[in-house]
Amino acid sequence: MNKDGLGLHVVFTGAPGCGKGTQARLLKEKVHIPHLSTGEMLRAEAAKATPLGLEIKALIDNGNLVSDDVIIGMLSKRIDEDDCKKGFILDGFPRTLPQAEALEKLLEQKGITLNAVIEIQVPDEIIMERILGRYACMKCGQGYHDKYQKPKVYGVCDVCGGTDFYRRIDDNRETVQNRLVNYRALTYPTISYFEKKGVLRCVDGTGSIAAVAKKIDDLLGVK
Ligand code: AMP
Repeated sequence: MNKDGLGLHVVFTGAPGCGKGTQARLLKEKVHIPHLSTGEMLRAEAAKATPLGLEIKALIDNGNLVSDDVIIGMLSKRIDEDDCKKGFILDGFPRTLPQAEALEKLLEQKGITLNAVIEIQVPDEIIMERILGRYACMKCGQGYHDKYQKPKVYGVCDVCGGTDFYRRIDDNRETVQNRLVNYRALTYPTISYFEKKGVLRCVDGTGSIAAVAKKIDDLLGVK
């Protein structure tokens, strides 16, 4: 954990569909600190039919990134909230070099040291199959997959018993291809940035969810 003993500050990064959201949620259950997914924050904003919400929705639905200004403003406000004093798990942020630099500045101002930036590595051919098959419970957000993670009882959420499920609009072949292009051009440079800073840790994301979680726990010293 952090050298000041206050908690864990970790970033999950990797290509769309690498499992960063799934792993961030699992880690949250164990260490009880907030899971900050910029994708989820943006989807909540997009659901409001405000001018900003509509603008965000169009970008997400086409697989393009939301502007750095909007996302940095949103994230810096969120990490100022009380629950983040214990630590936090970032999922999907930073996604560009300016975001990585902004994060570094924000943490410096707060005297926080990043424990690790965890890159979950998964080859492209696996990514497409993972994304096109995934869906989630409408009520609690628990994730499932047509082939790899079916609910125990068909049509019923294992976690909350909900019976309504949804698929993300941006989880279609064309949009995923664009998300991968954007990942390589804009997000990939942040990986070398964190490598140079000495905080990058790479994890093979091709195993089972539990096997990947175990590797991450070992790496972070989480029991
Ligand atoms: P995710 O849920 O992480 O897959 O994010 C879904 C979509 O939200 C992305 O494809 C982007 O359009 C947008 N998004 C999420 N996080 C960021 C970010 N840090 N910077 C810019 N756009 C983002």
